[in-house]
Amino acid sequence: MAYYRGICNFCGTGCGHLLRVEGNRVRGVYPLSGHPLSRGRLCVRGWHIHELLQTEDRINQPLIKDQGCFRQVSLETAIDFVARKIKNISGREVAFLGSPRASNEENYLLGKFARSVIKTNNLSLSSDAGQEESARVLLEGCGWPAMTGSLAELRQADFILVVGGDLTKQNPIIASEIHYAHRAGAFLATISPRKTQMARLSQVHLRPRPGTIFYLLQGLARVLADDRKIDLDYLSRFTVNSQSFIDGLKLVEIDKVVEITGIEKEQIARLAGQLAESDSAYAFYPTGVQSLDSRTMAALFNLFLLAGKIGRRG
Ligand code: SF4
Repeated sequence: MAYYRGICNFCGTGCGHLLRVEGNRVRGVYPLSGHPLSRGRLCVRGWHIHELLQTEDRINQPLIKDQGCFRQVSLETAIDFVARKIKNISGREVAFLGSPRASNEENYLLGKFARSVIKTNNLSLSSDAGQEESARVLLEGCGWPAMTGSLAELRQADFILVVGGDLTKQNPIIASEIHYAHRAGAFLATISPRKTQMARLSQVHLRPRPGTIFYLLQGLARVLADDRKIDLDYLSRFTVNSQSFIDGLKLVEIDKVVEITGIEKEQIARLAGQLAESDSAYAFYPTGVQSLDSRTMAALFNLFLLAGKIGRRG
């Protein structure tokens, strides 16, 4: 029997775990106490992730379709088969799909193979459009297609905004860290039409009409501008074209935002004020089937830029 360290790849949190291996089988999973985020915890999915390895539906040998039926082949035969097929196809005719469940190393190799060997950029590592959109918004916004804050520092945050989704179900260990931050004094706000568990914990729960979160975020940005709570020093040091964006906010009419979203002016002003006054602020939004659309993600990103919160500690 041996124990191996690993990272749970069931969701994007990436909790640390220990795999108990007997022979060539993983027989158990245990939390890793020294992991900076999960700190010795796993959610129920993480505790049972090894069971997926034992399911009968799992494909653990290459299959080739022959006259309408799959037949099992050796790895060498499968590689030879794919290599012969791929030789006669140009880079334009082929696409590669990676998986967020695969390891970094595996996806790196897939990318190398696609780009360097087959000479194609038809490569996607996203499991759904929501993640790809999120990565694009972040890449355009700050040149880094992934989260900008540190989950390991989440407990030190003093403002946390959860927009849409249901974090407690989707990323339970992150939700647990938010609970800790909240207990330590962080101001917690949720923007979601649904009464999620995170919303119940929040000091402020804004419930805009479904499909109107974008307008509410624009309204928050307008209030920051009107109340002179935009961090102009931060914008001048770290952004370009911010003045034209601020000028564009004049087109956002707060009365119209109230009418569209159903959220009162005072509630919008309170949340904008809390964000502006915080030192360390986090925003969480879902990807996947509950994903926000890209303009809503961009509005959230721009709101945090205006308040000068991106790229700071936390
Ligand atoms: S939150 Fe659960 S599913 Fe996600 S990485 Fe951690 S243990 Fe795995």
